[in-house]
Amino acid sequence: MKTYAYGFPRLGENREYKKAIESYWKKEISDYDLEQALYRIQESIIAAYQSSVDRFPVEAISGYDPMLDTAIITGVYPVNNCQEYYELCRGHQALEMTKWFNTNYHYLVPDFSSWSKPRFTLHMNIPLKFKKRFPQGIPSMIGPLTFLKLSKGIAPAPTVPSGAARFNEFLENLAEVYRQVFATVGEVHVDEPALVLDLTKDEIKACKKAYQHMAASGAKIHLLTYYDQVDFLKELYAWPAASLGLDFVRGKDYLKIIEREGFPADKILIAGVVDGRNVWRNDMKSSVQLIKRLNKKVKHLWISNAAPLFHLPITTEGQGLDPRLKEHLAFAKEKLGEIRQIADSVEQGLKVPAAKPMIFGQNKSVQKKVAGLARKDFIKKVSLEKRRKTQDKIFQLPLLPTTTIGSFPQTVDVRQKRSDVRSGKITPQEYEVYVQSKIREAVDFQERLGLDVLVHGEFERTDMVEFFAEKLEGIATTAQGWIISYGTRVYRPPIIFGDVFRPQPMTVKEIKYAQSLTSKPVKGMLTGPVTIIAWSFVREDIPIKNVAYQIALALQEEIRDYEQAGIKIVQVDEPAIRERAPIKHRQWPQYFDWAVNSFRLATNTDVATQIHTHMCYSEFGEIIDHINDMDFDVISIETTRSRADIIRHFEKIKFRRQIGLGVWDIHSPAVPTVDEMKEVARRALKVIPKKNFWINPDCGLKTRGWPETEASLKNLVTLAHQLRQ
Ligand code: GLN
Ligand code: ZN
Repeated sequence: MKTYAYGFPRLGENREYKKAIESYWKKEISDYDLEQALYRIQESIIAAYQSSVDRFPVEAISGYDPMLDTAIITGVYPVNNCQEYYELCRGHQALEMTKWFNTNYHYLVPDFSSWSKPRFTLHMNIPLKFKKRFPQGIPSMIGPLTFLKLSKGIAPAPTVPSGAARFNEFLENLAEVYRQVFATVGEVHVDEPALVLDLTKDEIKACKKAYQHMAASGAKIHLLTYYDQVDFLKELYAWPAASLGLDFVRGKDYLKIIEREGFPADKILIAGVVDGRNVWRNDMKSSVQLIKRLNKKVKHLWISNAAPLFHLPITTEGQGLDPRLKEHLAFAKEKLGEIRQIADSVEQGLKVPAAKPMIFGQNKSVQKKVAGLARKDFIKKVSLEKRRKTQDKIFQLPLLPTTTIGSFPQTVDVRQKRSDVRSGKITPQEYEVYVQSKIREAVDFQERLGLDVLVHGEFERTDMVEFFAEKLEGIATTAQGWIISYGTRVYRPPIIFGDVFRPQPMTVKEIKYAQSLTSKPVKGMLTGPVTIIAWSFVREDIPIKNVAYQIALALQEEIRDYEQAGIKIVQVDEPAIRERAPIKHRQWPQYFDWAVNSFRLATNTDVATQIHTHMCYSEFGEIIDHINDMDFDVISIETTRSRADIIRHFEKIKFRRQIGLGVWDIHSPAVPTVDEMKEVARRALKVIPKKNFWINPDCGLKTRGWPETEASLKNLVTLAHQLRQ
């Protein structure tokens, strides 16, 4: 029995990856220095693997994103040097970014659309070089199916006959390039998480054919799947791969199938048993049992992680974690140790202790509240129409009201002050006074511009999830638990380990202060349960639904405090609602049940309180009914990518709620003109009744600078005035 591990984080224990690349961008270091820095990180990754496992991929470390690297290897983009490479990552022609499967990692989306007649060439001059310095190392690459499925510009949905033909044609062409690459390496680790998607029969057939072609290279192919279960495992047995990597953490039926059907004697099973997506220590006893059962059916068995380890921070050491929590945690390095430990236990017949249950962080009263929830807790007493009447009377807003999404520019001074208060350079009182001064500036600014519904600006928040994680009990934050969100951008996911509750108000002071400065309504601003869950690591000892309801109850308390303080509009952001949806559509009903209900629970307060929500970064068409089910009063939604599309969907379901389709794409530094925004609004107003339409940017403004914010919002208010006339 061998051990295997893959996907170790490339960030470096001290974020060396980020530092090197960003220094390169600032021209502080040369191409050569950058290459050396990446090389050193790669060596440290290999050292980590070598200390625990027998075999591992040698992932020539990506300079930004492996999907882009794949596009370069296969000749989709001609790139000759680092500068051209980074031009594609962040230059004027930068590729679009989107979420990688149901994770919070964003990849660059290769675009095939300019390839009318795809003919791939193998570029040798590429940032991704296969290293063969380590005999245990296996060169690795994203497989053609995953690469193609996650790219754009190939074809409409593969269910369209012509689309399918085009997809197959691309796949065939790609297979030839891969064959050439594989021929040079002899043995290769191929990441194919796309094999767990809901695939059509046609796609599976085309993909098998592609693999047959690639296998003609003579290379030994290690085919790795993860994030969910492959639905056609038995068929996969017949594919020309030397090994199959399966995710046993999420593939609940695998053991049953293998015990029933066996496993091909000529193949290696790379059994992913140590979870790469969550931070909990492995349950050794059940892993050992699983391996023992597999051993009876499988001739060649390797023990591995389930899903790549880059979703985890590097080590639990030095995180300032409570020891009672820390003993239950394993990050990437500790997971490597667990893989070794399972193998040793099985081979040497060692007795493994049962997993210790977590007793830290229990709160009986929260548990009781959740257990006592009834149907009525999720249903508003008053209909949308009646709420509208009440609220219209209170707010007397003009037609096409204007607002923003919450945050205003988080400039250097704001971040400096936050780090000052963390390091003790200034007192919390001084910090509070500073935040108040920023709020005052923001309120004055919005009044001057003539916006109708104001925000306080979110200056006190680092990150919309971490901020609440710090305020809530039952959620831990880490000192250094960084993971890559995209490129060199990192964040520290909080850890939901216990029962969640709100020991005291979290945001009321700031919102109340903002409201005291103006007669216009100020929106209370909260992050919803799904988004808090999606961007955190979540406990698995209770159903996720209960975690969501605990958070919802805490938010509901916060809204009730807003109401006491005279805050009449509350926005609960749920940007992650689409991304958290399971990979398999058959699991959607169960997911949307708790996702929607947690929102309804959180916002089931006074009927006079106008509830807003905000969503972004996704295609919402296919989930529009669920969104509607959330029973809010107003939604603002990012639509830059698929504006026409989303409008069509709202039309289809006869959406009766108020809606602001972003008229300003805040992801670009360009200032939109009145006419440009008018174009967007006009198109939307063809479908959405004017009495339901709001005018707003499409997301928060925290990454923008003040000058373009001012210029753009001025235009936005002008637009509203013109349209009203
Ligand atoms: N209220 C948040 C903000 O304005 C929303 C951010 C988001 O949608 N991701 O920053
Ligand atoms: Zn947004």
